[in-house]
Amino acid sequence: MESLNRKYHGVDGEQSVSRYPYVDAPSVMMTDAFNERGLPLTDYNGVNQLGTMQAQAVAQDGERVSTNNAFIQPIRYRRKNLTVKVNSEVLKILIDEHRRAYGVVYKQHGRLYTAVASKEVIVSAGSLNSPKLLMLSGVGPKEHLHELNIDVISDLAVGENLHDHVTFNGIIIALPNETATAVDDNQLFNEIKLYKQMDVKHGPLSASGPLSTIAFYKTDPSLPAPDIQFQMAGVKYMEYFKELVAYEGVNIFPTAFYDAILPQTMNLVPKSRGKLLLNATNPHGDPLIFANYFEDPTDIMPIVKGTRFLISLEDTHAFKSKGAYFVKKPLEACRDYDWGSDEYIICLNRAYTRSTYHPVGTCKMGPQWDRKAVVDPRLRVYGVAGLRVMDSSIMPVVPRGNTNAPSIMIGERGVDLVIEEWRETTTKLVKYLV
Ligand SMILES: Cc1cc2nc3c(=O)[nH]c(=O)nc-3n(C[C@H](O)[C@H](O)[C@H](O)COP(=O)(O)OP(=O)(O)OC[C@H]3O[C@@H](n4cnc5c(N)ncnc54)[C@H](O)[C@@H]3O)c2cc1C
Repeated sequence: MESLNRKYHGVDGEQSVSRYPYVDAPSVMMTDAFNERGLPLTDYNGVNQLGTMQAQAVAQDGERVSTNNAFIQPIRYRRKNLTVKVNSEVLKILIDEHRRAYGVVYKQHGRLYTAVASKEVIVSAGSLNSPKLLMLSGVGPKEHLHELNIDVISDLAVGENLHDHVTFNGIIIALPNETATAVDDNQLFNEIKLYKQMDVKHGPLSASGPLSTIAFYKTDPSLPAPDIQFQMAGVKYMEYFKELVAYEGVNIFPTAFYDAILPQTMNLVPKSRGKLLLNATNPHGDPLIFANYFEDPTDIMPIVKGTRFLISLEDTHAFKSKGAYFVKKPLEACRDYDWGSDEYIICLNRAYTRSTYHPVGTCKMGPQWDRKAVVDPRLRVYGVAGLRVMDSSIMPVVPRGNTNAPSIMIGERGVDLVIEEWRETTTKLVKYLV
């Protein structure tokens, strides 16, 4: 494997990124199979994204590290200028008659409170809730806000440009017993007990099962960068089929124990755009999400080509030596097509479409002339002073990879912008006073 390049891998930040201390056999099998089919072993966070490898994760010593643990907890009780209000939901951004944001109304344990900002309000509620909060506060598409009797403060394309790395469920790799990692309830209970007792975590629960294998693929060699990512989830084979008939989603816990793999072929460059609206019957409730996947029909073809490549893994030594195979039983909604044909894969895409939980773009960053832009390049909301958005919703286009690290980066860069701006203002003020 390509050694990690320090230029791409800092070692002194708050957020730790590492490989899991435990790798299971099916995960190695998948990486080997991709490699056999021509994908190089690579450091996908380095110079060359194309290829396959064991995932780098926001984890340390076998435990996931959230941004809360990495950034907030170490300073939570040390910084006098930091107050964290838990179990609190912001209901509205307060904006005065001069169109300046000056605080928020939030609810905690059923009571309403107001927090006032001395400098500015920064919204980081994510791609689904930041647009909701802006719209509830009068920042959004005029027609939609009028329908809900919300006074319009700034008419912007909030909630539009919604997109995601679309994928589908329904391709299953069955694992024979000697490869599978499924365990019975007693073994599982013991593993959990053991894991909790460990000071430095190791063993199956210190990893994420087949999620540890990642691959990036180009459906056309002339493309500048991969347009497909493969991600694996562990599933229990029989349970999966039972659930899929009335498909809602697949959840098994913990991810380390499974006897089948659900590979997902993700379109990294979707052209379709959806939108998010407030729910007219309850604007404070869940917003309405119109994903609009495959509005642009060309979004399906890369997934079809990628899935064909995926299915070809069955011919590899890695699969054969382990006895792994694709379950060639057509799923209910697509039983009129031959398993594995393009028509079958297209049908799966349409019938068992799913998100990879990478929604972005609903408060798009862009220049002033861009009619879809909600925030400027310094993340300030157009038409409202003292208000920024700083999260995945500002991404104009989803990156070709998972969205967590880029979201953290937006936060880091956004903070620099705030510091820069207020430092400049203070310096100017001091000069003026002198
Ligand atoms: C199940 C799942 C698995 C994922 N796995 C991965 C992965 O393996 N790798 C990866 O790179 N990405 C992954 N992602 C995507 C990644 O988590 C997101 O891209 C990232 O968290 C986006 O960051 P954000 O700051 O925009 O939003 P969020 O992380 O969603 O942060 C928004 C925060 O605002 C809070 N909030 C929302 N509304 C309000 C309100 N009104 N008042 C107060 N607080 C509010 C929320 O509680 C939340 O804490 C996954 C996502 C999901 C859902």
